Order: sequence, then C-alpha cells, then structure tokens
Amino acid sequence: MILFNFIEDKSTKYAMENPAEKSKDFIRTIIEEDLKTGKNGNRVETRFPPEPNGYLHIGHAKAICIDFGIANEYNGACHLRMDDTNPAKEEVEYVDSIMQDVKWLGFDWGKHFYYASDYYEQLYKFAIELIEKNKAYVCDLNTDEIRQYRGTLTEPGKNSPFRNRTAEENLNLFEKMKNGEFKDGQCALRAKIDMAHPNLNMRDPVIYRIKHTAHHRTGNKWCIYPTYDYAHPVSDALEKITHSICTLEFEDHRPLYNWVIENITIDCHPQQIEFARLNITYTVMSKRKLLTLVQEKLVNGWDDPRLPTISGLRRRGYTPEAIRNFCERIGVAKANSTVDLALLEHCIREDLNKNAHRVMVVLDPVKVVITNYPDNQTEEFEADNNPEDPSAGKRKIMFSKEIYIERDDFREVPPKKYFRLAPGQEVRLKHAYYITCENVIKDTVTGEITEIHCKLDPQSRGGSTPDNRRVQGTLHWVSVKDAVNAEVMVYENLFTKADPDNIKEGEDFKSFINPASLKVLSNAKAEPALLGTKPGNRYQFLRNGYFCTDTDSTTGNLVFNRIVTLKDTWAKVEKKN
Ligand code: ATP
Ligand code: MG
Repeated sequence: MILFNFIEDKSTKYAMENPAEKSKDFIRTIIEEDLKTGKNGNRVETRFPPEPNGYLHIGHAKAICIDFGIANEYNGACHLRMDDTNPAKEEVEYVDSIMQDVKWLGFDWGKHFYYASDYYEQLYKFAIELIEKNKAYVCDLNTDEIRQYRGTLTEPGKNSPFRNRTAEENLNLFEKMKNGEFKDGQCALRAKIDMAHPNLNMRDPVIYRIKHTAHHRTGNKWCIYPTYDYAHPVSDALEKITHSICTLEFEDHRPLYNWVIENITIDCHPQQIEFARLNITYTVMSKRKLLTLVQEKLVNGWDDPRLPTISGLRRRGYTPEAIRNFCERIGVAKANSTVDLALLEHCIREDLNKNAHRVMVVLDPVKVVITNYPDNQTEEFEADNNPEDPSAGKRKIMFSKEIYIERDDFREVPPKKYFRLAPGQEVRLKHAYYITCENVIKDTVTGEITEIHCKLDPQSRGGSTPDNRRVQGTLHWVSVKDAVNAEVMVYENLFTKADPDNIKEGEDFKSFINPASLKVLSNAKAEPALLGTKPGNRYQFLRNGYFCTDTDSTTGNLVFNRIVTLKDTWAKVEKKN
C-alpha cells in the first residue's frame, strides 16, 4: 500500500484508517487496567517534562496531546515540568515559549507547574540516603575511564577501583563535591548497581556530576548537578505521577528509573511507559538541529514558518485544532515511524476549508483592460465569504475597467487544454463577467506583456449568460483602482530530502536545505476587504491556497504567509485506498 509506506506499525495504521474512531491505544489500555485494579487509588497523573533548551516542535505536540489528553480523559492532571537539571544550556526565553505553546495548543496545567531544579535539595538528600545504604559511591575515574571500564554489549564491565569506598568516606567526599572543593570532572557520584549487568545503563551510572556553572534559577548555589536518569524518576515520584509517559529512547533506561525509586525512601512508584517519537518527512525534529538552523541564520528565528516548531507552525497559520487532530490521527504506537507531511497539511486544509473566508488576491499580477467598459465606472458584486458556511456572510467586491489577473493565467500561445485566458479565448471572471482576449501590449524592449486587452459580454453579468454559454476557465482578479498591495511569502518544504535525518557519514543535513523553501512575492494585489486584516487571520486566496496574515503585517504593509496549497495529495491517496 502506498498510503503507509512510511508507517510500519499496526496500531498507527489502525488509527489512521479509522480517524473518527478513537482507538484504545496501548497506553490507554494500561491506564484503564490500573483504574480497574485501583493501582494508584484511581488517580491518573501525568507530566510533560521538556528541557528548556529550545522551542517546542510538532513532535513535542504529540507528547503534549498524549500527556495532557490522557489526563483530561481520565479526570486526572498533567504537570508541566521544566526539566532544567543541566545548567549550561537553559534559558528563560525557552521557558516562556514552552508555556505559551502548551497553552496555545489548548492545554492547561492548572496549579501543576514545576521546575526539576526545585528538587535539588531533595535530590541531594536521596543521594545521601543511597550513599548511606552503600548504593552509591564517589568515583575518581574521568569520563573516558568510566567509558573504558563500562565494557560493551558483549563484554561485562570492570569495577571501578573506587567502588569499595566506605559509606563514611563517600559521604565525606560527596560533601566536598557539593562544597566546591573539586574541579569539574574530577570525580562523580555513581550508583552502585552491577558492572556486569546486561543493560549498560545499569553499570554504575553517574548520578551527580560537578559543574561550576551558574543555573538560570539556582544561580551559584550548586556546583553539583544530578543527571537526567537520576533526577527524572525522583521528580516524578515527588510529584506523585502515576504514569510517566516518554519516548522510546528511554526504554533502556527504565530499569534504572525503577532502581532509583526502589532504593530511596519514597512512597510513590510511577510507571514509565514509552511510545514512538514522531518524525515527519522533509523536516528535522531534533532540537540540536533546529538550534543550528536558527543560530546559523539559515531560517529567520525559531518562529520561521518553515520550521516544525509550534511557534513556526502558529506563525505560518496552523490552528491548534488542526495540530491536535493530526496528533490524534497518527495515534500512539510503539515502533518508530515517519509520517508523511501530506497528512499534516491535510489536517489544516480540512480545518480551513470549513472556517477560512475566501478572498481574491493576485500573487503575480498582469493588467487586463476591458476595452468596452466605461472609463470611470465602478460596479459592486456580492460574494460569499465561505460557500461551505452560509453564516460567514457576504462581502462586496469592486469591478472596474482595469483589473489584475495572474500572469500565469494568460498564454499568448496556449498549450492544448489550456482553459485560461488566451487570444480569442473566453473565460469567466469569478463573481463578475465573461471576457474574451482581443489583443496584448508588450514592452518594446523586454517583450514582456504589460497589458492584455479584453472585451466583456454585458449579458454575462454575475457569471452566466442567457444562452447558458459554457466557458471552461474561471479566473480570480482584483480591480486595479481598488487593489491593495501585499507581500506574500510562499513556502515550500525546508528540505529537498524526504528523510534529512538519514544521511551518510560525512554528509551534512544542512546541504539538503531547499534553496526554494521561501519565495517572496512583493507585488501581490489584494481585494480591499483585506485592508483591515489582523495578524493570525486566515483566508483561502481563491485558486492560490490558504494564507495567514503574518505577525509583522500592518495596515500600511500587508504581509501574508502561505500555509498550504489547495491541492491535497493526502486526500487523493486516502480515496484510492
Ligand atoms: P531532542 O532530542 O530533540 O533534544 P528531547 O526529547 O530531548 O528532544 P525534551 O525537551 O526532553 O526534548 O522533550 C520533552 C518531552 O517531549 C519528552 O518526554 C520527549 O520524549 C517528548 N518528545 C520530544 N521529541 C518528541 C518527538 N519527536 N515525538 C514525540 N515526543 C517527543
Ligand atoms: Mg530530552
């Protein structure tokens, strides 16, 4: 089947084939089972734990829809926790953007907003407990040595020479680590588990490292920081999370997650459940790569409409409904897969087809002069704002002797089956008249067509004739004297390669950036109804696609982003199957 060539997993397939039916995925099945057995006192408490080191992307939206969506469905709560245990990379700007994006997607954490850094004190105390129980030790091996001692998948590791330090000695050294008596990397606190464990994560993992770096919230108070593998289960348990839902790369960390909770004195044991990350064709989803694109100015900031970031999608004109709908349709699966970008585009089209007002905007204009129309006459026509929704009302459009049409809607020598304007050929002007081309005027130097002269049939007023004459083409247009100038950003895929993450050794993902990913059309002509448009307003520009008024658009300088074209490749594929 062509439809699912990027999707291997059966449950995803099921969800996509049955978009209307909310399939019970494996996570919801686990939760319902727990509710039946009363495992967590009938509580469902989840969390979404982003690291504030970048902006959220559509992959995070999938996680958000799962974490918050499940909490909502089972009358539980979902916590928003900034996973800020790594002091070097985190910034307040990211925290703010994360909060804004989660809210915009339509979710609410209520009173449950936390920072992992709020737990530093407790994390430290639990570390002391582990040391006292002889379950953690201070190790002086450096990072390279730790790696060498760790062994491989086929060979067991070797015990660190510092593994047998007494609890007393370890307590003393850990205190010194905390007091800043050692340099970065001079030693680390490691969990004492099993250097021969088949799972490498269990071979005495580091749980605290020394970093003399200020933290965005705790300043210089700490110079030792807990690792993710240690801080995460403790944070979850402190917040009494019942189901800690995360992505597949943490599956191998689950034994360690459980080990930490089982070896400290805490009265909550959340269950970690993993699901597949979302990948989409023709884009990248890793924060590191997105940061590279932003920092090297290969895009215009985190909210560049070409990026898969939530802020980029928002600026482009995506609605939260369309994104949530997309996340529901891709479903929750246990196997990694890549979803066709066409499905995301299909979801926004579906939304906008119902909700967006139709307007006429000529992106690349050429002038048409109606030779048999009076010089100073103006006429008004009424047009439906949305034929799909009568309650959207009507608006007036102005007609006059000179109009703009798309340059591409005229051919001096038309190819076969070209139903638009050509010498001697008749077309319908949407909502107005039938016109026939009589003549063209060209620039004597460049040869470019500057004016197309046409005659209209007065009997065709409103779009049909008494003899019911058929015309094949209908063009959108804008009256010259009423036209409003606009700048239109036309976007294509950011990458030329469907899977830019999948590159050969020595290749750079940046070399697959599509040089035509942004085309600026600075001479577009819009109907005057758009003069009062506000950033975030969305339209269907007839025949040209769906567009959104840009954040930087003003009355004096209208700017629009193309959200998506009208051609729905996904719907076609869907119909065939
Ligand atoms: P990256 O690896 O790009 O830095 P990350 O996973 O480290 O991303 P976090 O801020 O730690 O980013 O992610 C917060 C949550 O969102 C995690 O639970 C993570 O599993 C989830 N998440 C991140 N990327 C995706 C994705 N592509 N699809 C689904 N969930 C994701
Ligand atoms: Mg992460």
